[in-house]
Amino acid sequence: MNARIIPIQSQPIEAVAAGACSAGADTLRAAAEAAGQSEMLQRYAADYPTTAGPHDQPQSMCPAFGSLRVGLRMRRVATMLSGSACCVYGLTFTSHFYGARRSVGYVPFNSETLVTGKLFEDIRDAVHAQANPQDLDAIVVINLCVPSASGVPLRLLPREINGVRIIGIDVPGFGVPTHAEAKDVLAAAMMRYAKEEVRTGPVQAPKGGRHDLPTIALLGEMFPADPVGIDQLLAPMGLAVGAVVPTREWRELYAALDSVAVAAIHPFYTATVREFTDIGRPVIGSAPVGLDGVQDWLKSVGDRLGIAADKTAQARNLALGAMRQALGDQRLEGRITLSGYEGSELLVARLLVECGADLRYVGSACPATPWNSTDIDWLQSRGVHVQMRASLEQDIAAVEEFKPHLAIGTTPVVQHAKQQAIPSLYFTNLISARPLMGVAGAGSLMQVVRSAIGNQARFNTMRDFFTGVGQGDQSGVWQDVPQARPEFRAENARQAERQRARRKAEEMGV
Ligand code: SF4
Repeated sequence: MNARIIPIQSQPIEAVAAGACSAGADTLRAAAEAAGQSEMLQRYAADYPTTAGPHDQPQSMCPAFGSLRVGLRMRRVATMLSGSACCVYGLTFTSHFYGARRSVGYVPFNSETLVTGKLFEDIRDAVHAQANPQDLDAIVVINLCVPSASGVPLRLLPREINGVRIIGIDVPGFGVPTHAEAKDVLAAAMMRYAKEEVRTGPVQAPKGGRHDLPTIALLGEMFPADPVGIDQLLAPMGLAVGAVVPTREWRELYAALDSVAVAAIHPFYTATVREFTDIGRPVIGSAPVGLDGVQDWLKSVGDRLGIAADKTAQARNLALGAMRQALGDQRLEGRITLSGYEGSELLVARLLVECGADLRYVGSACPATPWNSTDIDWLQSRGVHVQMRASLEQDIAAVEEFKPHLAIGTTPVVQHAKQQAIPSLYFTNLISARPLMGVAGAGSLMQVVRSAIGNQARFNTMRDFFTGVGQGDQSGVWQDVPQARPEFRAENARQAERQRARRKAEEMGV
């Protein structure tokens, strides 16, 4: 099968994710440049390029959520937001929706404190008030869109207060395209800080002490069983899994730096990878998913680290034997489209294809990078349409084009598919929150996908049940079905046009 072209062109997204979300990304970008933030914007443009596709602004949640989540998941780390109250409300809500059991700090502002520079003083006061070394290893301050555009200079915060590290970052929606890449912004800032600490003196060992074997650090938030599975894959090669970045506590950053290599399991950690390459650590792309993935990944690890060929072969044989059995026992049947914004979409796609699925489309809001290029090639060579920096419109067009038996996607894609009685699964909650690597990955994914495809009859029943309840502004329970009155709308449009013409004439002094 040949890869198909999804017939969707780049479209202006009106609500250019406000702030980004309401003021317009260009306006805020221009303001940020005027406020001396050009360097930050250039760095983000290089790290998180948006030229490859139309997805050059948030179409999902606020990107800053990625940084906030990384901070909130760390023990003994406090996270503070500086931004508009509406943004902070949304971010706090989302954090607690996803189970943050921590308060989100907030330094509010108004026009006056923003333009006079008082906001920065308020942030500094808040950081001083919070910096208690009994409770905290670090405080993270995140500038959202408006303070970033206004150039609130977090870099001028003290580097540490009473032994508590202070980390200030700008995460504007007009510079960081997805919440996935915003995780990279904070992970890299922490890694940079920890690297300086290592350079200047002894640091804390990991909680359980240093590993006896050389370790590989893993990049990406993944299901807790995955690092354990990867560790088992590596054992015959005399290697072990080290820290998983973003880390859960500060001292794990040192363990990550102590690794002999880093595996970019999630491929969008561009700035964090730079911190590793800066100290000479090799970077391994893709991930051990499916038969081909495990085989190629173990070979890459062996080659990059100069492991004896017989040890690598032993690791591959052990892993592949078990996986062949898992994959060979049962096969998936059905046409699938897949999309998401977590950055692990291509790995899931590979696994689906190896499980036998007829996968037609995979869209990711994340960019193509050197660490997912083999995944892109692998999928394309099997006829899958791969869309990096995919827009929501492209993801929905794929559902329309391929009429799948199962649509895996983000909330609006799933909603669109369900309205057409197509079984669907949320990528974030139901797919990315399960093991993917090694033997465990194949079994677990197969189970959830098969049971979702098997739900077609229930979707048909629901469609039949709801047929006739109306759509759009005619949906709901009515005594009489509402009648469309296009003549009213036309009259309103005529009046609005007349008013616009009158105003224009007045402006021109006619
Ligand atoms: S901080 Fe997030 S929610 Fe607020 S304006 Fe920027 S992109 Fe939108």
